[in-house]
Amino acid sequence: MHFNIKTNEDLERRDLIKHLTILSVTGSIFPVETLLSDRQVIDGMPELHRNALVMDGHVHVMTRELLLGTDIGQRYPDGTVDLPRAKEGGVDAMFFSVYTPEHYYPGRLETKNTFRVVNLALDQIERNNHLIELALNAADIERISAKGKMAAFLDLEGGYDLDGDINLLRALYRLGLRSMQLTAHNTTNAFIDSCNDVSRWGGINDLGKKIITEMNTLGMVINIAHASNDAIIQTARVSNDPVIYSHGGFYGIVGHPRCITDEAAKEVASKGGVIGVQFGSLFNNPKYYGWQQKGSNETTPATVQLSARTLKEIDQELAKEVPLNFKGTIPDEYWMHVDQLARVIDYGVNLVGEDHIAIGSDFDGGPELPREIKDISDLPQITIAMQKLGYSDERIKKILGLNWLRVIRQVTEA
Ligand SMILES: [Zn+2]
Repeated sequence: MHFNIKTNEDLERRDLIKHLTILSVTGSIFPVETLLSDRQVIDGMPELHRNALVMDGHVHVMTRELLLGTDIGQRYPDGTVDLPRAKEGGVDAMFFSVYTPEHYYPGRLETKNTFRVVNLALDQIERNNHLIELALNAADIERISAKGKMAAFLDLEGGYDLDGDINLLRALYRLGLRSMQLTAHNTTNAFIDSCNDVSRWGGINDLGKKIITEMNTLGMVINIAHASNDAIIQTARVSNDPVIYSHGGFYGIVGHPRCITDEAAKEVASKGGVIGVQFGSLFNNPKYYGWQQKGSNETTPATVQLSARTLKEIDQELAKEVPLNFKGTIPDEYWMHVDQLARVIDYGVNLVGEDHIAIGSDFDGGPELPREIKDISDLPQITIAMQKLGYSDERIKKILGLNWLRVIRQVTEA
């Protein structure tokens, strides 16, 4: 299901802007350039958004392609991500997040899934070379976006224990993987506690420290989204490089475990790291979260109970959920507007500073997107919402992508 409703306020604003644009171009003796400002919106996209390096810290890709055999270069009527729509959203780069769901773990099939999904990502990037290229570092991202293409920076969600052999991490690095979420999505794995699962290690254990050191040595970005509070703090302290929290909310706004505490956020920022704000109501809108807590779970898509054991059987069961976008309905009063998302960003900026906040939408990862954002093509809406907060262009550019770029440069080019 799509959420394609624009508020009256937005429609009126756009009409007004269009009207003003026509007046300024036709009725003025001044050169057009002097009348154009970054506050100008053309076809829903502010000039600032068009000119900025826009990098999304968490975009779910490849699950549909893997399980349904589709091509991300094609436009789809459902889901929230494909390359044509990403292009329309002004995206220049993204953490191209390949996903290994928990479902593969009990059968010890997670490593197989990880390798085939990384392989598929490389295939699809190559097949759509006119739109996207693989980026291994910050210089690549700049070079690719300068050509007008999108840059794909591979990120694995999540780490599991990769069958307990650190050489598998090195093999993935050789394939082009430059970022890994340590936590196994919502499951505590062999070396780090997840925020949604039992605390087995009180944060991270010795294997976790070894993996962090190895990632530092290789020059891989350490992603600690989905980690427990202790695990985030310990990882930030152990790592020599800044670490990232690619997608989530703030616990100070919504008391969900997938939201980062002020303490952990400050620790990440103090090491030069960056926190990506996820786009879902569950992590960002206290009203919606409260409503969910009351037990009304009508909007939660049914989770497939897996009885399957082989790779193929699990694939077939999971395929029923694809694309992984949110499919429920949200009553009007609980459905978040994009201005609430901007307020969450503002909370982060006030907490840790504008150098440490970014966007990590989680498109196709199932967030209950704001009303104004039906899919990735509506990404400019977040820029408009930040402009309404009175943010400077410089600050907006950092949040839209320059902060991710800085961390990637620091980690991969040191
Ligand atoms: Zn996630």
